[in-house]
Amino acid sequence: MKLYLFDIDGTLITSGGAGEASLKQAVRAFCGKEVDFSPVTMSGNTDTGIARQLLGLADMEPTEQNIMGLLDCYLAELSSRIHQHDGRLLPGIIPLLDRMEERSDCLLALLTGNLIRGAEVKLGHYGVWHYFAFGAFADDHHIRNELGPIAQSRALTMHGEIIPPEQIYVIGDTPRDIECGKVFGAITVAVATGHHSREELASHHPDFLFDDLSDADAVLAAIAPEYQN
Ligand SMILES: [Mg+2]
Repeated sequence: MKLYLFDIDGTLITSGGAGEASLKQAVRAFCGKEVDFSPVTMSGNTDTGIARQLLGLADMEPTEQNIMGLLDCYLAELSSRIHQHDGRLLPGIIPLLDRMEERSDCLLALLTGNLIRGAEVKLGHYGVWHYFAFGAFADDHHIRNELGPIAQSRALTMHGEIIPPEQIYVIGDTPRDIECGKVFGAITVAVATGHHSREELASHHPDFLFDDLSDADAVLAAIAPEYQN
């Protein structure tokens, strides 16, 4: 069994800015002020990590209660805004997931900085939530590098399989995805459909690198080489 851990934003979908717009509105509503987002790295960060930073910028303590309060506002905004923004599935995602789902040796799951409820709003809206058996989310830890082993242990709990890191693929669009795969010995797959160029991603030495995931044959030949159509 191989475990495939997909990132969401920039990898499976783009929300057309719905995520960031929802966060901005949540900060206005919860913190009662405008905050300059420029010091915050959004790309590859976790929602809980972002919330901690934003509370600091709003001169509020990053207590558990404040983090959850801000993120509850964010999730309410996201649920209404996701329909209004010009987001989309990224190229080739459904054909690729369909082909992987057919296989009994591929376990599809998520490794994302989204909260589980945010992940469900985004992927549910684009009709791909059902492909993923489980995930590791921002609810599990605010540091992305901690999420790989959490996903691995969840595979054991939910499917009774000990999947070694060399059978685990971390698929994402940012240097942080590559890093969080490497820290637990997983195989890293970078895709340049987010805000990072192919050249920038290459400088972080992923095991595989694609412009996008639209050529399912090429992607499967690389990351699921036993595949025979
Ligand atoms: Mg991403």
